[in-house]
Amino acid sequence: MKLVYLDHNATTPVASEVLEAMHPYFREDFYNPSSIYSPAQKVREKVEEARLKVARLLNAEPSEIVFTSGGTEANNQAIIGGARANRKKGNHIITSAIEHHAVLDTCLRLEKEGFEVTVLPVDQYGTVSPESLQKAIKPETVLVSIMYANNEVGTVQDIKTLAHIARQNGSLFHTDAVQAVGKIKVDVKELGIDMLSLSAHKFYGPKGIGCLYIKKGVKVESLLTGGGQENKMRAGTENTPGIIGLGRAAEFILENREEMEKRIRELEELLRQGIKDRIPDVIFTGHPENRVPGCVSVCFKYIEGESMLLLLDQQGIMASSGSACSSKSLKASHVLLAMGITPEIAHGSLRLSLGKDTKREDIEYVLEVLPGVVEKLRAMSPLYRRGDG
Ligand SMILES: *Cc1c(COP(=O)(O)O)cnc(C)c1O
Repeated sequence: MKLVYLDHNATTPVASEVLEAMHPYFREDFYNPSSIYSPAQKVREKVEEARLKVARLLNAEPSEIVFTSGGTEANNQAIIGGARANRKKGNHIITSAIEHHAVLDTCLRLEKEGFEVTVLPVDQYGTVSPESLQKAIKPETVLVSIMYANNEVGTVQDIKTLAHIARQNGSLFHTDAVQAVGKIKVDVKELGIDMLSLSAHKFYGPKGIGCLYIKKGVKVESLLTGGGQENKMRAGTENTPGIIGLGRAAEFILENREEMEKRIRELEELLRQGIKDRIPDVIFTGHPENRVPGCVSVCFKYIEGESMLLLLDQQGIMASSGSACSSKSLKASHVLLAMGITPEIAHGSLRLSLGKDTKREDIEYVLEVLPGVVEKLRAMSPLYRRGDG
């Protein structure tokens, strides 16, 4: 059976260049980079080389990069560490309603520790307005965390403007850029931000490795206690194969992103147009222009996204309904609800996310299969009558 993977926002396959770069660090060069002997010191050099590559991708300094176990840890470290280190200044945190749970739930956890949390609303496209941040920010605000690109609908925020408002107020600005890095240009200096999270497995690197960019001079309390690795910011023996894989993936993105973006946007357009032409009663969600390449988020009226995923899976098509985590529960996506989409419509959501290896034939196959799947489910739906709406 033909298999078509259209769930790149959940994870991506490791690029062959990346796998090749990682390989020696499992066996031949397995040494602990903190050891004294020269083979271990060579591994240390490779770790530092990877740090330089990640820094280059973000236009940061190598000393501003702290390797973590991925996006979730980076978000936890930024928010908890940033809030705790600046507690003297105040106890107010601002985030948005469409964040990943690694940000939302971390902020809610701080609420239990006595912080006050403001969750900013978004408009119908999933955009946070600078005015709403301006209104919510106050002298006690220690931290603002707003995601760069949304994982469900792909909407990109005006981070530069939002960060400027935070800076004017003396508040730290963090962005979860897990869905932006690898897809669009990300320049921490141009954005004027204090912290940024990224994750390797969202851009053709391995799972279990990511980093937090922390601007020089920004005070953050480290979450883990133990060894003095990562300039005392992240205790624990370094994940050397992962770090070297992340470095290689960063280099891969620097070299190939623009060309990939162009190709993926073309295929995305083909998919969008194809859905529009073939299926009635569809609502595309996300911003019409300001969005990352490759994310097609759509709601089909009168049906359940979950059932759609099962029927698509039977035909070899791998996709998602809302985020991978929330698809286990039958709750409608908090992102779509925050955008003002009704629960009934949000339940019929499908996310198709394209990647560097997606082919025109894959899109054509989806366009062949999807109309039948939607029709079959609608025929069984009590909400749907042929000829309506
Ligand atoms: C995947 C993802 C995360 C979590 O990253 P992990 O490396 O899987 O922990 C965080 N935020 C966003 C927006 C994501 O898409």
